[in-house]
Amino acid sequence: MTYLLNSPDDFAEEAVRGLVASHPEFLVEVPGGVARSTQTPAGQPALVIGGGSGHYPAFAGWVGPGMGHGAPCGKIFSSPSASEVYSVVRNAENGGGVILGFGNYAGDVLHFGLAAEKLRHEGIDVRIVTVSDDVASNTSENHRDRRGVAGDLPVFKIVGAAIEAGADLDEAERLAWKANDATRSFGLAFDGCTLPGSDDPLFHVEKGSMGVGLGIHGEPGVRDADIGSAADVADLLVDELLNEEPPRGEDGYDGRVAVILNGLGTVKYEELFVVYGRIAERLEQRGLTAVRPEVGEFVTSLDMAGLSLTLVFLDDELEKLWLAPVETPAYRRGSMPAVDRAPRTSTWDPGTTEIPDSSEDSRTCAQEIVAVLERFRQVCADNEGELGRLDAVAGDGDHGQGMAFGSRGAADAARTAVDRGAGARTTLLMAGEAWADAAGGTSGALWGAALTCAGGEFTDTEGADDRRVVDAVTAGIDAILRLGGAEPGDKTMVDAAVPFRDALTDAFDTDAAPAITAAARVAHDAAAKTADITARLGRARVLGEKSVGTPDPGARSFSLLMTALGEHLTR
Ligand code: ADP
Ligand code: MG
Repeated sequence: MTYLLNSPDDFAEEAVRGLVASHPEFLVEVPGGVARSTQTPAGQPALVIGGGSGHYPAFAGWVGPGMGHGAPCGKIFSSPSASEVYSVVRNAENGGGVILGFGNYAGDVLHFGLAAEKLRHEGIDVRIVTVSDDVASNTSENHRDRRGVAGDLPVFKIVGAAIEAGADLDEAERLAWKANDATRSFGLAFDGCTLPGSDDPLFHVEKGSMGVGLGIHGEPGVRDADIGSAADVADLLVDELLNEEPPRGEDGYDGRVAVILNGLGTVKYEELFVVYGRIAERLEQRGLTAVRPEVGEFVTSLDMAGLSLTLVFLDDELEKLWLAPVETPAYRRGSMPAVDRAPRTSTWDPGTTEIPDSSEDSRTCAQEIVAVLERFRQVCADNEGELGRLDAVAGDGDHGQGMAFGSRGAADAARTAVDRGAGARTTLLMAGEAWADAAGGTSGALWGAALTCAGGEFTDTEGADDRRVVDAVTAGIDAILRLGGAEPGDKTMVDAAVPFRDALTDAFDTDAAPAITAAARVAHDAAAKTADITARLGRARVLGEKSVGTPDPGARSFSLLMTALGEHLTR
């Protein structure tokens, strides 16, 4: 448990502040996280790495020459919001584009993805690399769909070294995926971790046994087993990973492996060394060469009692980057040749975003957008209870609240933007960001992305005709599909959105209002029909069977809002 804190809500932020105060030579605090406190060469790609807090030294501890350029820091175990990611990128990017690196988790994928959409609209080249090293979470054929654990360390280390050595964005991205594809991890836990301020752990493992293949936020493992001796534990970890050793002599791999034995929180260094002794023996027996092994804490999970083993199957290129010098608060190796240590002169502050010039026509259109969002706010408020009840059946019951918060945040932000003279595009971009920030959760990120991408179809200098309205709605739905990655039949809002989009395309000729109204009727029926589907995605996945008979809450709210849009346009 956490003995020292001021307030649970501020714990993550206060920890970041203290980290920065203790390492001003590397870090500066920026809105949403940290960035390097020193200048970076103009045109150098930026590596921005992040995720929830509670995993130190991941991720803020790895910002410095040879590794990260910035790290957005979420609350404990929860993804940073899109605007936190955006702000850190704005502070870290220096004309060479950006690699967004994070572990493969739904919340992170959505919020980083949303930030990427916005940055791309502003002309920044953004590449996304999701680390997916945990063999327990999916099959080897689906390596890139696995979740990310301690593989974050070697993947970000390798990309950071490549960038330091002069790689451009394409090359850095190539190496990031190459490193990820060569990395495998497997973890065990002997007991759960406790959130700051909470009395009970998130989960318990029975005394004497261990959760095998358990995730770093306490996601269920593949099985329970007796702990056994340190050697048994070492054998289990090694066997599990060597199942996926690539053939030697192929693609430059000849048996050299980077090895990381990672303590998750309360396992002592001496215990780790006892385990490592056996791991080293086993690797040698197998004819493998351990290259610069690391034993210690790298990707932790608060006070979880557990450990993980990571192997990176190296070729010459990866080995060189793995061994290259690095200098960050928590991870140092060798000495960096001639790093420019000039302090950074300024930081980007979201408060200073200017409203671009707009035309009268576009401002009129922006007024309409505000009216639509006010209408959405009303509909969400009226249906908050029902949407919450639908989500409580197989989800976590927060969908009504999320939609109410999100639509309110968006409507307020849009009104403020219009009051400051914004045109249609800027109004929708600001509304989208506000929705995601205010709502949180999966649907909040998706609705935020939808508004942002719809905004991309407008300009600040022209009015809107019916064609543009339909294109904006379609672009918003496409953003939901792209970011969420759900397919029809997964029991999500996509089951209402795709039939809606198809019906809209069919019905639209020159008049948007009747086409949207007709498509909304299709969405309404499709949402009702989701009651027949077993949930396979999102939080409801775990309780899929329970969801049969209840429509998907996100599909229902989608149809309600499109009905409201049709009514507004008709009026
Ligand atoms: P959370 O699931 O984070 O609690 P909400 O309760 O606000 O978020 O929203 C749940 C809804 O989000 C689901 O009913 C579903 O319609 C939608 N959803 C979840 N995952 C996806 C996805 N990958 N793509 C599209 N929609 C999704
Ligand atoms: Mg929910």
